[in-house]
Amino acid sequence: MESSQQFPLQKNNSFNIKAICPIIYFPKTLADLKSLPDLSEKIFYILGDGSNTLFIEEQAPIIIKPNFKGIKISESADHYVVRAGAAENWHELVKYCLVKGIFGLENLALIPGSVGAAPVQNIGAYGAELSQFCSQIKWYEFASKAIKPLSNDDCQFSYRNSIFKEALYNKGIITEVIFNFPKLWRANLSYAGLNTLGQNPTAKQVMDKIISLRQAKLPDPTKLPNAGSFFKNPLVNKEKATSLKAIYPLIPLYIQDNGQVKLAAGWLIEEVGLKGYRKNGVGVHEHQALVLVNYGSDEGKDIVVLAKYVQQQVLAKFDILISPEVRMITQQGEQDFANLTKVHECH
Ligand SMILES: Cc1cc2nc3c(=O)[nH]c(=O)nc-3n(C[C@H](O)[C@H](O)[C@H](O)COP(=O)(O)OP(=O)(O)OC[C@H]3O[C@@H](n4cnc5c(N)ncnc54)[C@H](O)[C@@H]3O)c2cc1C
Repeated sequence: MESSQQFPLQKNNSFNIKAICPIIYFPKTLADLKSLPDLSEKIFYILGDGSNTLFIEEQAPIIIKPNFKGIKISESADHYVVRAGAAENWHELVKYCLVKGIFGLENLALIPGSVGAAPVQNIGAYGAELSQFCSQIKWYEFASKAIKPLSNDDCQFSYRNSIFKEALYNKGIITEVIFNFPKLWRANLSYAGLNTLGQNPTAKQVMDKIISLRQAKLPDPTKLPNAGSFFKNPLVNKEKATSLKAIYPLIPLYIQDNGQVKLAAGWLIEEVGLKGYRKNGVGVHEHQALVLVNYGSDEGKDIVVLAKYVQQQVLAKFDILISPEVRMITQQGEQDFANLTKVHECH
């Protein structure tokens, strides 16, 4: 199996932060996975394309970067089945499906990252989520050294969450994602901004619209390093939402099926006046307050300090704790943002 020691990770994270890992493994076959050293007592991190990852210290832990490639298509009378290797690029997969006449993923166009990471946080955008199309995951379990099939139900998908962040965290590696698309396709126009497309747009028109909306709103990480939405949109109960609405009549509220109310973290950040805020070479994006950007820092802790400040300001004004979507990685492995006080204090 390919591996490399003292591997620099700056080109492998969309925040463009400097970090180095003692060793990186690139498994691309089951035999490679089986030949990985026993990591049960070691600290390690599974890295996709690093577009949801923040390296906080210069030293990173051992990295496993799955390199499973390939896309296969099969079909039944009324469905297409698409199997994609974990190391395939997500947006390339969306485009490939579209070219093959397989529709469904167009609302999720232009989300950076790998196919293998997409189920981990159940990527979502513009009224769609990966969980709507994912029928099975092939998952290599470290303990049994075998690849196990996990059904959609097994994955326990929810808003930006899945079993891979919970019970199966660091217990194995996603090698392949299997999707099921009904041949009978209808455009998903549930997101209000898509109403300009009329009643019956083609999948290509939907994808093009999504791409133009995203390009207008989100900074391109290759030009201005970032990890997309830094914070998750917080969920509150109805009482809290009603009291907020009384004070802030313009606050956007999104009522969920379970009765909870989702708030727009970007709106909250904008309301505390931090849109466009900059310090230590990092900042809150000037057009999209939910995105923290790196103007020129090499150090992930600068982002952490900024994120803590944003979180505190929102808490002070709204009594709502916003929490990051981005994964925080130190030499000691992944860290809970709440426990990152040391980084904050010593800065
Ligand atoms: C500009 C921009 C816009 C974005 N927009 C969106 C959006 O609209 N919606 C959205 O949901 N996200 C969005 N994101 C976040 C990001 O694109 C997704 O989280 C994406 O799935 C991350 O993929 P990655 O390969 O870069 O993951 P990484 O950052 O490398 O890893 C993310 C997590 O997945 C785990 N992981 C990676 N690969 C595997 C594997 N094979 N097996 C097991 N675990 C694995 C890692 O350990 C880590 O916990 C955006 C990011 C950027 C930079």
